[in-house]
Amino acid sequence: MRYTGLIENYKDRLPVDDSTRLISLGEGNTPLIRLENIPATLGKDVDIYVKYEGLNPTGSFKDRGMTMAVTKAVESGSKAIICASTGNTSASAAAYAARAGIKAFVLIPEGKIALGKLAQAMIHGAVIIQIKGNFDDGMRLVKEVADHAPVSIVNSINPFRLQGQKTASFEIIEELGGAPDYHCLPVGNAGNISAHWMGYKEYFDDGTANTKPIMVGYQAAGAAPFVKGKMVDEPETIATAIRIGHPQSWDLAHTVEQESNGWFDSLTDEEILAAQKLLTEQEGVFCEPASATSLAGAMRDIKSGKIPEGSKIVCTLTGHGLKDPDTAIAQCSDEMININPVMDEVRDAILNNM
Ligand SMILES: *Cc1c(COP(=O)(O)O)cnc(C)c1O
Repeated sequence: MRYTGLIENYKDRLPVDDSTRLISLGEGNTPLIRLENIPATLGKDVDIYVKYEGLNPTGSFKDRGMTMAVTKAVESGSKAIICASTGNTSASAAAYAARAGIKAFVLIPEGKIALGKLAQAMIHGAVIIQIKGNFDDGMRLVKEVADHAPVSIVNSINPFRLQGQKTASFEIIEELGGAPDYHCLPVGNAGNISAHWMGYKEYFDDGTANTKPIMVGYQAAGAAPFVKGKMVDEPETIATAIRIGHPQSWDLAHTVEQESNGWFDSLTDEEILAAQKLLTEQEGVFCEPASATSLAGAMRDIKSGKIPEGSKIVCTLTGHGLKDPDTAIAQCSDEMININPVMDEVRDAILNNM
């Protein structure tokens, strides 16, 4: 049967009925890739899978939540949606609004949005409002303005977002035949880690899965409010998707930590970029910097033994590497070989680099 998106697939577990017009681009059903080369380099006996959410229609997991949020916005008669965004939410909102035939307004931090994401929001026809401030400023403004203008907020404070995003856990359980032992995610607003936990609990409570995973959230060191235990006013990291200092799902995420016996930790930008590169070079999987935070953290905790040998671990790769070509190229530009257009020089370039 033709796959037509996660709402259709999980209709009985989502707040829709037969009369609901579904706004879908075929999101969800993303590959769960077993890492074949990286585990050996860790010197530990572990099973690591990456859930490649970068293969959603607009290149990030945001589509899982956006299909639900826009479907419900349209159902309620809304003609416009609005969001604050570090990039991927705006790309997704722009695409689903286009699909639905409604207007999208997106507030983005000036100069701090990855090139691919900006291109997406622009080409889909969203109204882009660039603010001299960061994501947290944008979020505050969106909440305020929604009381003064006829727009539906589609940030993850919209509960339908998390409903859509919980389906990633369903897919993982179905594919592995049960829950993993550990599930590692990058954390910004912490909506996604909260949504995943909802999904795992739902399948556990009705007996579809016998266990629930330990949830581990990793942040960038310069934007790590959950690790510091307090809000951060000037978040900074190369992983722009998680450059957030005032997370919206603060309480939900702490409940996830307690209920799952999990933890939060942080990684430097250097560790994040190293993991991104390792994954591309050793496994052929290209994710954006923020996404690699999950794997970077998992690798560190596997090496230290905090995540024990014998574990089955899923790392969510939240967005596609092509979202942020500038950062990828900057990491590798020294490695390029420049030659004259003659055979000898090509041959040398090959033989010197075999
Ligand atoms: C949105 C996003 C995150 C953070 O997800 P939260 O739900 O805000 O914690 C991480 N990585 C990427 C690529 C994102 O787009």
